[in-house]
Amino acid sequence: AHLDRIAKVDDKVHAFLHLDTEGALAAAKAVDAKRQAGDELGPLAGVPLALKDVFTMKNVPTTCGSRILEGWKPPYDSTTVSRLRKAGIVILGKTNMDEFAMGSSTENSAFGPSHNPWDLDRIPGGSGGGSSASITAYEAPLALGTDTGGSIRQPASVTGTVGVKPTYGGTSRYGVVAMASSLDTPGPCARNALDAALLHEVIAGHDPMDSTSIDQPVPPVVEAARRGDVRGMRIGVVKELGGEGYQPGVEQRFRESVELLSELGADVVEVSCPHFVHALPTYYLIMPAEVSSNLARFDGMRYGLRTADDGTHSAEEVMNATREAGFGAEAKRRIMIGAYALSSGYYDAYYGQAQKVRTLIARDFDRAFEQVDVLVSPTTPTTAFKLGERVDDPLAMYKADLCTIPSNLAGNASASFPCGLSPDDGLPVGLHVMAPVMADDRVYRVGGAVE
Ligand code: GLN
Repeated sequence: AHLDRIAKVDDKVHAFLHLDTEGALAAAKAVDAKRQAGDELGPLAGVPLALKDVFTMKNVPTTCGSRILEGWKPPYDSTTVSRLRKAGIVILGKTNMDEFAMGSSTENSAFGPSHNPWDLDRIPGGSGGGSSASITAYEAPLALGTDTGGSIRQPASVTGTVGVKPTYGGTSRYGVVAMASSLDTPGPCARNALDAALLHEVIAGHDPMDSTSIDQPVPPVVEAARRGDVRGMRIGVVKELGGEGYQPGVEQRFRESVELLSELGADVVEVSCPHFVHALPTYYLIMPAEVSSNLARFDGMRYGLRTADDGTHSAEEVMNATREAGFGAEAKRRIMIGAYALSSGYYDAYYGQAQKVRTLIARDFDRAFEQVDVLVSPTTPTTAFKLGERVDDPLAMYKADLCTIPSNLAGNASASFPCGLSPDDGLPVGLHVMAPVMADDRVYRVGGAVE
């Protein structure tokens, strides 16, 4: 049914870059055979899922939305894909994304943007816009994303779906093509908190293949989503995330959600996190620094694309020509900014300073979580903007992640849950919930309560 739905609507939505029809049907049949044999099946066995094209899946093309990986088929499964397979989840195919997860609209994809099913002239968010659009368009009930600065939560917000960025290290990065290794976090996308929690439980947990994986039990997310009860919970509204520059309709729905949480028995207070205002510039130094180092592996020798390979050019010329042809403008911009921030003489002034501010932001969270159980804000300052509106203005594009970036810098759990449609334009608004490291269950408690 989902493959039929994709065939019907994906020429308009463009959520998918690649469909694995054969693999999906085989996986579904295997689950069916197990069911008939009376085997015990997990709660998501047989449920279809759309996979962001940044996760490796054996012998299935993985492009990360980039020309430079065109034609590359990974020889192995990411830990996430192995766990999905084990749970009997049926992977339908790979979803569109901004190139190497750099962006907030999918317009940086080398293969054309995805469209927001609420209004096809608008962005579905990014970088994981293909995943969120696939859920919104009923092409898949579940999807996976990765969140480095907001790429699960912002797309969820603008498409009226649920997107969770687990605690950094709570989900494995093994087989996730790296953007910024100290920030990248795989996580679930779904239509409600419980579906997201069920998927969270499948993919989370210690992985010896990832050196930053946390060796602790997975927080009780399913139980929390089912309970959906905020009685007695202390909730902090972040003073610095709101006001000027926020769309009035977004602010209105956010305030109403806070009132609802208070009516449901939570204790709501205002909390100040003074260093959050520096999160965006901090991120835009640390992230490109890591990007410039991670993307160095795409040299035209090892993966995918190779141009100028006619026997008359040196290895360096082939490398340069491949990168020139293979990387898009945003990838090039970030590689250059990152290389600059890391160069001798500038390292201390830029990268070193940014790391110090990162620590101050983490301390703001620590102090806040001494007073409250979770923090809340809008997920993103506006609803879905028009395709093309921000493509020539990188700074305007970067601002979409104003509220989501602090959690990436500090590594704590956070999520976006739908909280109604903006009265300005009738488009979805997201409630952003932030919880301490390894307290992912708390975001699900709030999500389960507001939906
Ligand atoms: N939009 C942010 C960026 O462009 C976040 C991306 C992400 O989380 N992968 O970097």
